[in-house]
Amino acid sequence: MIADAIRPLVEVNPSLKVKSIIAEVQSKFNYTVSYRKAWLAKQKCVAKIFGDWKISYRTLPWWCMAMCAKMPGSRVRIETLPIYRGSEEVNGIRILRRVFWSFYPCIRAFRHCKPLVQVDSTRLYGKFKGTLLVAIAQDGNQNIVPIAFAIVESETAEEWDFFLHQLRKNVVTQDGVGIISNCHESIQAAIARSDGAWAPPRARHMFCIRHIGANFLKRFKAPHLHKLVINIGYSRTEQEYNINYERLRERGEAYTNWCDEIGLQRWVLAFDEGYRWGHMTTNMVECINSVLKGARNLPVNAILRATCYWLNKLFTRKSDEAHEHIRNGFTYSEFATQRVKENLHRAGNIVVNRFNKHNEVFEVHEMDNGSIFTVNLAQRVCDCGHFQVERLPCRHVLACCANQRLDWQVYINDVYKMSEIRKVYSVKFLPLDDPVT
Ligand SMILES: [Zn+2]
Repeated sequence: MIADAIRPLVEVNPSLKVKSIIAEVQSKFNYTVSYRKAWLAKQKCVAKIFGDWKISYRTLPWWCMAMCAKMPGSRVRIETLPIYRGSEEVNGIRILRRVFWSFYPCIRAFRHCKPLVQVDSTRLYGKFKGTLLVAIAQDGNQNIVPIAFAIVESETAEEWDFFLHQLRKNVVTQDGVGIISNCHESIQAAIARSDGAWAPPRARHMFCIRHIGANFLKRFKAPHLHKLVINIGYSRTEQEYNINYERLRERGEAYTNWCDEIGLQRWVLAFDEGYRWGHMTTNMVECINSVLKGARNLPVNAILRATCYWLNKLFTRKSDEAHEHIRNGFTYSEFATQRVKENLHRAGNIVVNRFNKHNEVFEVHEMDNGSIFTVNLAQRVCDCGHFQVERLPCRHVLACCANQRLDWQVYINDVYKMSEIRKVYSVKFLPLDDPVT
């Protein structure tokens, strides 16, 4: 009875604490159960929802087939290895080597997200000591949308190659995309051997600033300089970059030499040509906290099912939120609305000089601090760096539009439209049901 009562909680969080179970039973039945009884109920419940370790490998292909049957268009790739007894192959038994999967709703979702993918890895803590690789997209309201997963043995170039190849073939199929990853050598090697699939002009590979910061600390053990390095990455203009770079150089050229090795386009916002959309990290931490909560302790097939459960919850919630927001009369995402509001607020103090007769190039003066910026509406760039990074009108663009009686909404990228965000979550997940064993 307890196992049934706590099932919804365990579905969401398989690492649910025993004391939370005791509290749940207390509030539901007004009765205090022993720690042991609560613990047993949890084990029973986990086995019921996610299945046994023993049948985990055996049922994995079944789950994958169920997933593709229930949600046609989903993509799975399982690779196995033969087992040898001595030098002879054992017939009929193979062991799991690696598996890639992406649910159809996620594949469709990506079309309405920013053309950017964040990839990272995390260790698994269950009996299968593998690594989970994840690809994450971003909607127009700064929310993460996990789009593809793989379980592999470890983080090697070969395993990354497998994941990135499947990702490119099945999910991230368009060109002109950015990819943000950790700084692991294995992923760089995998991208180098991707035959141009993840290299210019088809894609731009960039690094996560959190990992760069961590690598800097590993190399120099100078925590007081960590912030200076991070600031360089976040520089939106060349001028800002020069100032931040100089600050670090003053502390020692060894530090800036180390930074030079990374390559400007790979980590500094001012030089990425907009591929990052302002996103600096892989967002893996957020993904683990929201979607993969507790999943890393589960058997392999259970991880696949768990991602389905959680993504279903995420999509349902986000879809409801989007409809609610539209009902309330909003055209753009909360993020975009808020950002434009702030910028409008600051646009009042800007004097605009038109530079050419096509209304496209302007010179603007900020009266409170005397700064001068050039805005090019046709090329959608502003010296401040915000316009081209976020694809939202900065305060200077808003001032130009007010001055020339132009419609600033033209300069808000479609990805921020609520109609587009609604589409991200529009394809529904379906239950996978129970396996026939
Ligand atoms: Zn600007």
